[in-house]
Amino acid sequence: MENRILGLHHITAIADGAQRNYDFYTKVLGLRLVKKTVNFDDPGTYHFYYGDEAGSPGTILTFFPWEGIGKGHAGSGMATQIGYSVPEGSLPFWTDRFKQLNVKHEEVIERFGEQVLSFQDPDGLQLELVVPVADDSRKAWETHEVKAAVATKGFYNVTLTVRNHTPTASILTNILGYTLLRQEGNRYRFVTDALDTASVVDIVEAPGLAPGRGAAGTNHHVAFRVKDDNILMEFREKIARAGLSITPKIDRDYFFSLYFREPGGILFELATDNPGFTRDEPLAELGTQLKLPKQYEKSRQQIEEALPALHS
Ligand code: ZN
Repeated sequence: MENRILGLHHITAIADGAQRNYDFYTKVLGLRLVKKTVNFDDPGTYHFYYGDEAGSPGTILTFFPWEGIGKGHAGSGMATQIGYSVPEGSLPFWTDRFKQLNVKHEEVIERFGEQVLSFQDPDGLQLELVVPVADDSRKAWETHEVKAAVATKGFYNVTLTVRNHTPTASILTNILGYTLLRQEGNRYRFVTDALDTASVVDIVEAPGLAPGRGAAGTNHHVAFRVKDDNILMEFREKIARAGLSITPKIDRDYFFSLYFREPGGILFELATDNPGFTRDEPLAELGTQLKLPKQYEKSRQQIEEALPALHS
């Protein structure tokens, strides 16, 4: 069990405008900002991590808010929808809330026997609230306006849109340990039984769809979860043996990572549970300070001055 992929770890997307992104995810959606840092490859940009109280793997949605980047568009070779698990009976609350706050959303639909409410963030990123058939026992982060009875509990699924489902499906099943659960039209649902939350990946096959363009409102990569660095390196070998090019192990301060591009064009990451977000801030204070990786600490003043102000 422990040497397997443990579902989703985090999902990273692109935004335009740090403040608007922060307001939407913490206030409208009611997530907790668990880490405020910079893009390690581009320290002039924030990197925000939103999740449950501790930023548990399987709850973490992260953003690079590149000011002025402009809108991208979703298309093939991309993760196109991010699904959150919500409690039974919560969708009327969310529909009302989205109406009141002018959040673009659709009518509730049924998919694989589950209720799904689709909506968009201010950059046009497509998200979904799903009421899973099976009970989700994870403890939700709650705010004044979004109480635990309706709050998101972390990821339910991610949807990958590709022109041909077969090569991507083979990575999921042969390397990452997922199995095909069901198919509905052009949507193939894969699941891992390594754990029972954040365990679903859908592939939508769209043969004629043009490739997406990565900018605000689109996904950057999808990270799968492994327990620790040893398991990470076991997967590295397995992926390299399959003929895919994969990065060396990278220290992301809050987890260790590897990146590879799956054959459908989507950037996949594998990320560890260790060391987690409390390595440089106590649980009660997560997300309150700007945290920098040590290579940038000496340039802190310059970095802080260049980043846009963020008001909570
Ligand atoms: Zn990542």
